[in-house]
Amino acid sequence: MDAAELPSVFSKKGFYGAMMEWAMKDEHFKTQLFRFVDVLPALASSSEVARHLQEYLGTEEAHLSPALRMGLKAAGGASWIVGAGVKSQVTAMAGTFLLGDQPKEILRTLRQLHDQGLAFTVDILGEAVVSEAEAEHYVRRYLDLMDAIGPEIAQWPHSCKSNESSAGPVPPLNLSIKLSALYSQVHPADPDTAVEQICGRLRPILRQAAKLGAFINFDMESYAHKNLTLRVFQTIFAEPEFARHPACGLAMQAYLKDCETDLRGLISWARERSRRVTVRLVKGAYWDYETILSQQRHWPVPVFARKPESDANFEKLSLLLLENTTAVDAAFGTHNVRSIAYVLAQADRLGLDRRAFEFQMLYGMAEPVKAAVLQLKCRVRDYCPVGELLPGIAYFVRRLLENTSNEGFLANKFSKGVSRDELLQDPRRLVVAAQPEPPRSASGAETRPFRNEPCTDFTLGLERDRLRAALVELRRHLGRRHPLVINHKPVQTRDWSPSLNPANQNEIVGYAAQGTTVEAEAALAAARAAQPKWARTKAGDRAALLERLADLMRRDKAALSALAVLEAGKNWGEADADVAEAIDFCDFYASIMRDLSRSRRTQWVPGESNLQHWWPRGLGVVIAPWNFPLAILTGMASAAVVAGNAIILKPSDQTPVIGARLMDLFMEAGVPPGVVNLLTGPGRQIAAHLVAHPQIDFIAFTGSMEVGLKIWETAGRTLAGQANLKKVICEMGGKNCLIVDSDADLDEAVTGCVASAFGYQGQKCSALSRLIVLEDQYDKFIERLIAAAGSLRIGPAEVPGTIIGPVINREAQQRIQAIIQAGQQEARLAWQGIVPNDPAACYVAPTIFTGVPASSRLFREEIFGPVLAVTKARDFDEALALANSSDFALTGGCYSRSPVNIDRVKNELACGNLYINRSITGAVVERQPFGGFKMSGGGTKAGGVEYLQNFMLPRVITENCLRRGFAPTDE
Ligand code: NAD
Repeated sequence: MDAAELPSVFSKKGFYGAMMEWAMKDEHFKTQLFRFVDVLPALASSSEVARHLQEYLGTEEAHLSPALRMGLKAAGGASWIVGAGVKSQVTAMAGTFLLGDQPKEILRTLRQLHDQGLAFTVDILGEAVVSEAEAEHYVRRYLDLMDAIGPEIAQWPHSCKSNESSAGPVPPLNLSIKLSALYSQVHPADPDTAVEQICGRLRPILRQAAKLGAFINFDMESYAHKNLTLRVFQTIFAEPEFARHPACGLAMQAYLKDCETDLRGLISWARERSRRVTVRLVKGAYWDYETILSQQRHWPVPVFARKPESDANFEKLSLLLLENTTAVDAAFGTHNVRSIAYVLAQADRLGLDRRAFEFQMLYGMAEPVKAAVLQLKCRVRDYCPVGELLPGIAYFVRRLLENTSNEGFLANKFSKGVSRDELLQDPRRLVVAAQPEPPRSASGAETRPFRNEPCTDFTLGLERDRLRAALVELRRHLGRRHPLVINHKPVQTRDWSPSLNPANQNEIVGYAAQGTTVEAEAALAAARAAQPKWARTKAGDRAALLERLADLMRRDKAALSALAVLEAGKNWGEADADVAEAIDFCDFYASIMRDLSRSRRTQWVPGESNLQHWWPRGLGVVIAPWNFPLAILTGMASAAVVAGNAIILKPSDQTPVIGARLMDLFMEAGVPPGVVNLLTGPGRQIAAHLVAHPQIDFIAFTGSMEVGLKIWETAGRTLAGQANLKKVICEMGGKNCLIVDSDADLDEAVTGCVASAFGYQGQKCSALSRLIVLEDQYDKFIERLIAAAGSLRIGPAEVPGTIIGPVINREAQQRIQAIIQAGQQEARLAWQGIVPNDPAACYVAPTIFTGVPASSRLFREEIFGPVLAVTKARDFDEALALANSSDFALTGGCYSRSPVNIDRVKNELACGNLYINRSITGAVVERQPFGGFKMSGGGTKAGGVEYLQNFMLPRVITENCLRRGFAPTDE
């Protein structure tokens, strides 16, 4: 191919060519350019366009490379994209890859392809589906599109060469479908419902396709959807109605390590049923996403680490497909000339007709490659996205990324001028040459001693079975009595309080002993006796205790999750995350304690040693809330204990059985008697008694502002005989706020806000409760937000796939319902969900209020339930002022694509944990040390490196090392 045959995308001419060329030369410019293109559809006015352009590409801020700066200067600055014309220019650029959304335009382009001998498959683009209404709409669009173009295509006079296979003609109308767009509530824990719902929406599409003689292809998306896609495919095409028609196929991704297993499974499936299916073999378009996501979650990375490995696997699987053309039809989705050549060579070797399979390439790309492949008498199909050009930009940006990615074949060939021999090298040889494997993350996280416990991957059937079995097993032991534990001995009490399942108040999870001040005193005495020896125990041994505790929790993960489901009403994912966080606290604080146990030199001077080290504070009481029943209790207790203190553990009155379970695990891990004592019972009496006690040295409290302030005040009073000033580690409530800027990515903002506000029924301390939306996108955003919230599944937490469960108890239910009732005097009740009509459960209908005034109770007071208050802001200044007008400062967030506004939020929004362009809940130990200030807490950070220091006292030891003028050299 010479320069004259450069594909249009890479031509050096024109606006797009110039930008692409710059983007390939300058990483920073590439990122800025893509981000600008990404936000463009959301910008309502040309002044907004100009502002963003300046923020992203204003040469001062963009830190462009000198070469690019010169290039831009030569091109007359950035004037080529300034002003109102920019949208039309980018739209025109998008038109290189997308077919638009008007049936007429679409048909015109498809006809041109047809006349050139190119077959096509049509894919509908659109925003991410965040609600059931949007999923329904997507189905409608498919049906409408088929109706609009199907009959005319059937009338086209001659057949297109690429639709003539060696086995006969293939359907000219070919549609590609993304299953994730057919159902908004795919939940890893509940694939069965997803299969059912998706099949339900597919049936009318398949019926219509069968009627029109169309071909339906399932696209393959992210790994999380892979098994689901395969299951839906094999379920629906096994149904008698669709067992023969319409013609069907699906994409498979060679960059996945388990692609070969899946492909072999599919081939057997097709062979057994004599159902011909087309497999579109691609390398896969989500490599970065899969790699980053699995690293973030500490899951095995599903994709090959290196590009040549994917290329080699593609070749291997190509051969597998060619060897099985008796059962499946092969389609090779690649622009890579080496991959294409490999397919052709293998087909020749196997004596296969070149029309027995097809190649698929993207519309608007690689035209010379397509022409060459057509000349070889092969069949070629263009992948044609249709949809509004500007909103289709997300897709477009992904294409841009591919074009400029360092390893993309086209980029290498046409822009970087890599030699022909290099490009055609056998990928297997490159794999061998590239040993060893690159590190899994840039930060080298795997070399660090602490590693977060991965959340359970419930897409795995084994994991689902495990939790299901744990729930069954737990039910066999419900209703037991859980005594106090003092000095390792069970202590029975006169009163016992039942702990009830929030989803069924008739189900008693267990009975908790009700301690009194008498037992509180006994626990204190036990702790006091045990503490000195524990303080002298080597820090390494204390750390090892926590590591054993972590291991036991790992062993019992499913059982502990099951308990959180039944006692706290957490859904599967939330329960599992609570256990994972508890494990993290143990492992993390163990590693920090090992670190802190080494004395540190404060400053070096000759002849004198100055060392700082830590002493435990002494005796403490750990007072925990119910909303992270295992994690928070474990976090505070493990920090106190590993630091050498002895404690009295006071779990929440709502989740005492989990508290008792933690006590058991502490003992099993080998904590010495008296170091940890369990005291369940009414906090108002026993915990308050201990807080005021002169022998208590510290209080670790997490809970409401009301109780926290009382504790803070009580602890400030020094009593006769008190040895130490009491230290209060105090984490309280929040009224967390999130700003949705006028240029926010609504797909992300809607899902992030819904998850933040309604996850665990809004009962997370980090939950979103004040949402401030800039007026430009207000109406559209609220409409989508309500539709998304209305799509969430509500029910008992133990049913997999439930998002919203019951609130913690009857009292909370009544309290929140009363707030909702009263709130209607203050603001507009814009939406309320429908909860199951079950009098035994404590459901509160999730609720959204709009037009909430800043002075109202709804705006100011913590509700701690599924109630979201929305307020409109004129501009960003007002939004920030509203956000900051709160007594609390716990979590906060902002969805924005304006670098300037993002900076402002970073500098100005008052909160302990700020999240930008993501949900505001789900802090991870070490990654996001958690805690707030103002009336949200004393500024401590659970899960942070400094946290343990709150449980210790620093000491400095100075020793004069001079002996008559002689100092040892190492001092
Ligand atoms: P709560 O304040 O009612 O109870 C917390 C604990 O304090 C319980 O164990 C309770 O028995 C005990 N307690 C009650 N009265 C007491 C008294 N007079 N003296 C001593 N102890 C007493 O809180 P809750 O309902 O269990 O938890 C929800 C609250 O916790 C919310 O306000 C939430 O925002 C907050 N929270 C904050 C964080 C954070 O990290 N900042 C985390 C989780 C929960």
